[in-house]
Amino acid sequence: MPGATPRGVQKVARTAASGSSSSVEPSQTLRGPQDEAGHSTRERSSGQHPNPDKPEPKRRQPPLPKSLHKKQEFRGLGAIVVIGAGLAGSEAAWQAAQRGVPVTLYEMRPVRMTPAHQTDRMAELVCSNSLGSNLPDRALGLLKNELRRLGSLIIACADRTAVPAGGALAVGRDAFSRAVTEAVEGHPNITVRREEITNLSPFLIREGGRGVGSTIIATGPLTSPALAQAIRQLAGQDYLYFFDAMAPIVTAESIDMTVAFRASRYGRGAEERGSGGAGARSEEAVKHADVQSTNLPIYQSTNPPIYQPPGDYINCPLTREEYYAFVEAVNAAEKISLREFEQDDEARRYFEGCLPIEVLAARSAEALAFGPMRPVGLRDPRTGKRPFAVVQLRQDNVAGTLYNLVGFQINLKWGDQERVLRMIPGLASAEFVRFGQMHRNTFINSRVLLRSTLQWRDREDLFFAGQITGTEGYVGSTAGGLLAGLNAARLAHGAPPVTLPPTTMMGALFYYITHVEPVGGSMGRGDGFQPMKANFGLLPDLDPPERNKRQRYAGYTARALADLEAALAAQQVS
Ligand SMILES: Cc1cc2nc3c(=O)[nH]c(=O)nc-3n(C[C@H](O)[C@H](O)[C@H](O)COP(=O)(O)OP(=O)(O)OC[C@H]3O[C@@H](n4cnc5c(N)ncnc54)[C@H](O)[C@@H]3O)c2cc1C
Repeated sequence: MPGATPRGVQKVARTAASGSSSSVEPSQTLRGPQDEAGHSTRERSSGQHPNPDKPEPKRRQPPLPKSLHKKQEFRGLGAIVVIGAGLAGSEAAWQAAQRGVPVTLYEMRPVRMTPAHQTDRMAELVCSNSLGSNLPDRALGLLKNELRRLGSLIIACADRTAVPAGGALAVGRDAFSRAVTEAVEGHPNITVRREEITNLSPFLIREGGRGVGSTIIATGPLTSPALAQAIRQLAGQDYLYFFDAMAPIVTAESIDMTVAFRASRYGRGAEERGSGGAGARSEEAVKHADVQSTNLPIYQSTNPPIYQPPGDYINCPLTREEYYAFVEAVNAAEKISLREFEQDDEARRYFEGCLPIEVLAARSAEALAFGPMRPVGLRDPRTGKRPFAVVQLRQDNVAGTLYNLVGFQINLKWGDQERVLRMIPGLASAEFVRFGQMHRNTFINSRVLLRSTLQWRDREDLFFAGQITGTEGYVGSTAGGLLAGLNAARLAHGAPPVTLPPTTMMGALFYYITHVEPVGGSMGRGDGFQPMKANFGLLPDLDPPERNKRQRYAGYTARALADLEAALAAQQVS
């Protein structure tokens, strides 16, 4: 299921469970709604956060000051519009409203449903009821603790509606979305409108050179077609995507380099850069390369050391037998079929443009060997020969801690996917931070369009948040909503937007989606921008680096929470 924690990662989670906890009680962070003077209106009413297991009796909301009504109706300077009341939109609206800014929240359900949502509730979970790991020293656990520290409504409601799920935070689906809906609808600073937004012009008005309040677009992976068209006009044809073909990503340290080897096809790339040359070498030249040459680097951690030619890619070589066994396993594995709403013309065109490996394997036993697993231009330094087939992995983040399987868009069920991919020599113990998927997903190229504050590059009063920005999963989407809501509220108060340190999970995620280096259009579109979920591979190394994984994760966690605290104090975030 998209967003669930891959098994390879869960295995680590179990061994790393005992790190330092910095969890914050939701009751400490979920402040009641505040009036303009900053007093808690909840304290004035029941003093309780809405508890779904014990619904509060219906009570009249305290009357709003007239000026507030007026701001909401006429959208005066400083008012905020949020479009989409999913996880990101609900969180954004709550954060802004908590800071005393009037918010109008537009949600199209139930007037118009998405193909996946079933109810008219806010923050409905469309699939799994798990928000992933809750362990403090796991990537998603850290992200949750950062969100708790920042007073997230979504995480507070999840904590209150949690069901037993081991180290994960899973929720009672209905209770959770009911709790969010009641909190948002009951907030005196939020007006909810059940309406589909199809045109952005009314929300992008400028008066006297500045915007009339801010707009946050949080309409998610299933943004309605009319609005998607409006966003496409705003973003440009090439920067809005409708379908996602994601190749799996593994951690670099989990690749067995005694089996895999570094090289670029025909010696292109780093090998050429290293020798000061340019262009490609012939396959013949690669064949005769002296792998024992003292110019070549040695992979130090193996015993005896193995000479590794430089190269941009990590290559996993397969013999003929290994290749055919792999194809057979792919053919036998359980596939995820595209849902009805994923089979429209747009999706079908996209699907044909980047076929998943299981479709290629089913077409012919040799198709992969002539496609993404072709070995041309590569020699295994151990044998000096060209392997029968090769799986190439390309660096996925600047730190070099993550690698993606090149051309390996794949749509197998995750259990089977893990089993089959581990058959690839060098990946037997791979730790998957993301499995491959193909699914309907509307998202913008945030690398080109957004700042790390989630503001539009050339328009400070326009924000995007949630999965539409390329942050994968329930909690990543919530984090985007929180930052966009916080920053829109700061603009309304004349304060500069907050930037979170890249050593925090939130900061790293937003830095990644707004700065990731293009990887060359491998998925058949634009510059290859792809969504990302929270993971430790996004964080900068510890100083000094820590080799022990358990201690490293604990170190990341402690550093992130300390740096978050310092950043909030320095930027006066309350
Ligand atoms: C089929 C499917 C299964 C998924 N399964 C998982 C999973 O198991 N785990 C996981 O972590 N993630 C999963 N995801 C990803 C999931 O969608 C996100 O993690 C999360 O819901 C995104 O939050 P969001 O707020 O960005 O979007 P959403 O939660 O989708 O919210 C967007 C809201 O905007 C509204 N909207 C859309 N267009 C308009 C419009 N024009 N006007 C007004 N309102 C509009 C929608 O009705 C919706 O309420 C899945 C996605 C899909 C499509």
